[in-house]
Order: sequence, then structure tokens, then C-alpha cells
Amino acid sequence: MLIKNLFKSKNSKLLQVTFRFYSKGTVSKHYDVVIAGGGMVGTSLACTLGKNTKLREKRVLLLEACPNKAWGNPEKYSNRVVSINPSSQKLFSDLGAWKFIEKHRFAPVKQLQVWDALSDASVTFGNAESQEIVSYIVENDLLLAALTEEVKNCDNVNVLYNAKVTKYGLPDYEGNIVNITLDNGDEYTCDLLLGCDGVNSSVRKSMQADYVSWSYNQMGVVATLKLKECMKNEIAWQRFLPNGPVALLPLTDELSSLVWSTSPEEARRLLSVTEEEFVEALNKAIWSKYSSSIIVQQATSIFDTFLRVLNCSKSEKNNVPPTVKSIEPNSRAAFPLGFGHSSQYIGKGVALVGDAAHRVHPLAGQGVNLGFGDVACLSNTLGEAVYDGSTINDLSYLRNYEKDRQRHNIVTMAGIEGLHRLYNTDLTPIVLLRSLGLQATQALEPLKRAIVSQAS
Ligand SMILES: Cc1cc2nc3c(=O)[nH]c(=O)nc-3n(C[C@H](O)[C@H](O)[C@H](O)COP(=O)(O)OP(=O)(O)OC[C@H]3O[C@@H](n4cnc5c(N)ncnc54)[C@H](O)[C@@H]3O)c2cc1C
Repeated sequence: MLIKNLFKSKNSKLLQVTFRFYSKGTVSKHYDVVIAGGGMVGTSLACTLGKNTKLREKRVLLLEACPNKAWGNPEKYSNRVVSINPSSQKLFSDLGAWKFIEKHRFAPVKQLQVWDALSDASVTFGNAESQEIVSYIVENDLLLAALTEEVKNCDNVNVLYNAKVTKYGLPDYEGNIVNITLDNGDEYTCDLLLGCDGVNSSVRKSMQADYVSWSYNQMGVVATLKLKECMKNEIAWQRFLPNGPVALLPLTDELSSLVWSTSPEEARRLLSVTEEEFVEALNKAIWSKYSSSIIVQQATSIFDTFLRVLNCSKSEKNNVPPTVKSIEPNSRAAFPLGFGHSSQYIGKGVALVGDAAHRVHPLAGQGVNLGFGDVACLSNTLGEAVYDGSTINDLSYLRNYEKDRQRHNIVTMAGIEGLHRLYNTDLTPIVLLRSLGLQATQALEPLKRAIVSQAS
């Protein structure tokens, strides 16, 4: 027997749940939407759906396997940070979550400087002297805490922590309801399941979606760095080394965060050496001269002269990267890096969002930004479906979400993959090609703007 909207008390979220009573006596709860996975993407989705006025009547449940990590305002910076683009920052502002981040801490990036270890070619995006911000560096835990605070203000969203899903029963040909079982035996049902459960998504596996993936045979080594000089730290630096890129992201005038992609063997070595040896290896990676081919040197020099003659080459202020003094004790860690893309983002009663649908190399700092883009698009799409009088799991609307996001994500992912392949070799013709490409990009403002626009 189904009793819909039995209790409508506005004050009790529990009573707002629609209950399903089964003859065997178990009670399972029904929601319009269940979000599986309360990481940065799942929690931002819960918040976005909760604040979407078109979805006010829809009941949402967020299930997260881990405990709620409250923000304890720690003095030490976390070694896990993300660079979020202006569109993601706007999403946070619109949700009201940015004020929590502003109250605590974040670092604006005004310029991104990228250079090749095997040639003199470099490119800058943005301008350290201007007021314009190209990205924002925020700790993952702070971002999540800001979203968690805002979710508390959404009357139609319930959150369950320590709630690990062990089984998904997706609707078959005739059915319309999704069944969800937790590891403690609790059961829930919903009209629409949103899989935000990360790279190894069980939702994606239950969909039996085609998933293209590979490992980069690289690890991302992270750490919190103390800089030698206290300075206006508003430039993000990235140097492409033969083993992978090393990036320094500003945190404060004295601290930066490291993302160093390198071979698994080198990553293991970097984690096992003393902190002093680690700092020495890092400064070498940032500063040392690599022997470059004479052909590359001559060709890039001629091309630079050519660009100057054409008046395209701008003499910009020559910024130099910081030197690292030490690292925060015990801040080193490493994460495996890989690529993944699901050819289906949607199915009957289900959609994938964030890393569950796509995974990229961190070299362009785009992974979670793509996920936040999915969140904004999906919330609009579901709002439209309900506003037009359709059901929240209407496949034709879900297809629009899939189409819009794949159109954007595949182009961005192809660009990141292209960059990875281009810089993952020291073959002279490729080094030459990429160096000329970097010089041309530096000279052509419209090209730079197009790149920034796709990444925003
Ligand atoms: C070194 C490194 C640096 C990066 N830097 C950047 C950057 O600068 N900018 C950027 O945009 N991106 C960056 N990324 C990528 C970014 O970290 C990811 O894209 C992002 O964390 C994905 O978020 P998500 O919420 O989709 O997935 P996740 O963070 O993996 O969250 C998934 C959540 O689902 C929960 N879950 C899983 N299974 C279940 C289950 N069965 N039941 C209940 N809950 C479940 C998990 O507990 C988890 O909380 C970086 C990645 C790495 C490795």
C-alpha cells in the first residue's frame, strides 16, 4: 500500500518523507531524488537542487559513506586543494556558500604561468598586475564544509552520513522506481538516482555503462610548501618536466600547495626521502636547466623574432617562480592519476555527475570544475522538466543534460589529453611542435581568450 505525502509538517524533515509499507513489514522511505555520494560534487548538487525554486516540492536525500567532516578552522592548510574557475566560484556565490569560504580562507590566482623544461617557450594566462582573477585556490575540506552549511538551510534535503550504499536496483523495462540498500540493511526508493560516487562509481557499474578508462602510470604528489621569500603570491606556476608537470598553487604570501605528477617509482621515492631531500628535489624540478635540442633552440628563437617583427610578441614582466624553503611536516601524499569517460551519463531513473562520469589528469585543474558544470546543468534541466509538468526522471530531459554536458566535457577532456600526450615525450619534433605552439599561444590573445573561455 502506498500512502503518499502522509505527513506534510514543514518542521519535520522525517515526516516529509513519503513512506512505502510492504506486506513483509519492513518500512522503506521514498524520495523524489537520491544522490549517492556526498563529496564536493554530490553536496553541491544537493545544495543546488535544494535551492532551485522549481524543485521546491521535491524531496531529496543525500547518502554519504563517510562521517560528516566538520570544518574545525585548522591553523594548518590541508594538502588537498582545488583550483576552481570563475564559473564554479559563481555557482558557490549563487548558492550562498562562497561567504563561508570568504570568511575563512582562499587564494585568488591572477596569473597562470606555464613553461616547458625542454625549451624556453612559456605562456601566461591572466595578468598579475590586474584585478582580474583567473581562478581560486580552496582547500577541498573547506569547500565541502561551505556546501554542507548551506545544505542545512534546504528544507527539502535530508543528509545521511555513514550511509554506504551496497546495492542499487535500477528500474527495469516496466518499472519506474530505483531501489537502494545500505550496508546496515536500510532501504530507500526514489524516482531519480544521481550517481556522484566518484571515479569507482557503483552507480555507473549498476547502469552497465560503457566506460573508457586508462591509467597514466603517474601519481600526483601533493604537499604544503613554505616559500623562501614572503611575497605577493598570486601566480600559479606549472612547469612541464619530462616525467610530468609540477605545479605550485598559491595559498598565502608564504605558502603554496604542490601538485607534482610523476612516475609511480619517483613518487614513492619522493615520499620516502627526508623532507630536506624532498625540498631539494622540488627546487631542482622548478629551477634546473634541462639539455634541450639545438634545433628546438634555433627554431624557437627564429619564431620569436618573427613574432616580434609582426608585433605579436609582447615583452611581459619576467616573473620568476618561487623557491621552496621547507614543507609542512607530514603534508606529503600521492594519488594515482587516470583518465575515464562514461559514454552514457543517463539511463532510466538514473544520471551520473562529476568524477562518476568523467576523470581527467589534474594538469589543467579542471576535474571538479567539470563536475560543478554538470551540477549547474542538471539542476536547470530537472527544474525545467518539473516546470513543464513532466516527471523528474523524464528521459527526454535527462538526454538534454547528457547532450549538453558531453558536448562540453569531451572537448575539454580531449584538450587536456592532448596536452598530456604532447608533454609526455622528449622527442625533438614533438618538443619543437609544442614549443612553437606555446609561443604562438602566448602571442595570440584571441587564442588565449578561447582557451580560458573553454576552461571557465
Ligand atoms: C592530485 C589531484 C589534484 C587535483 N586538482 C584539481 C584542481 O585543481 N581542480 C579541479 O577542478 N580538480 C582537481 N582534481 C580533481 C578533483 O579532486 C575531483 O574531480 C573531485 O574530487 C571529484 O569530486 P566528486 O565529488 O565527483 O568525487 P569524490 O571526491 O570521489 O566523491 C565521491 C563521494 O562518494 C562517496 N561514495 C562513494 N561510494 C559510495 C557509496 N557506495 N555509498 C555512499 N557514498 C559513496 C565517497 O565517500 C565520496 O565522498 C584533482 C585531483 C587530484 C587527484
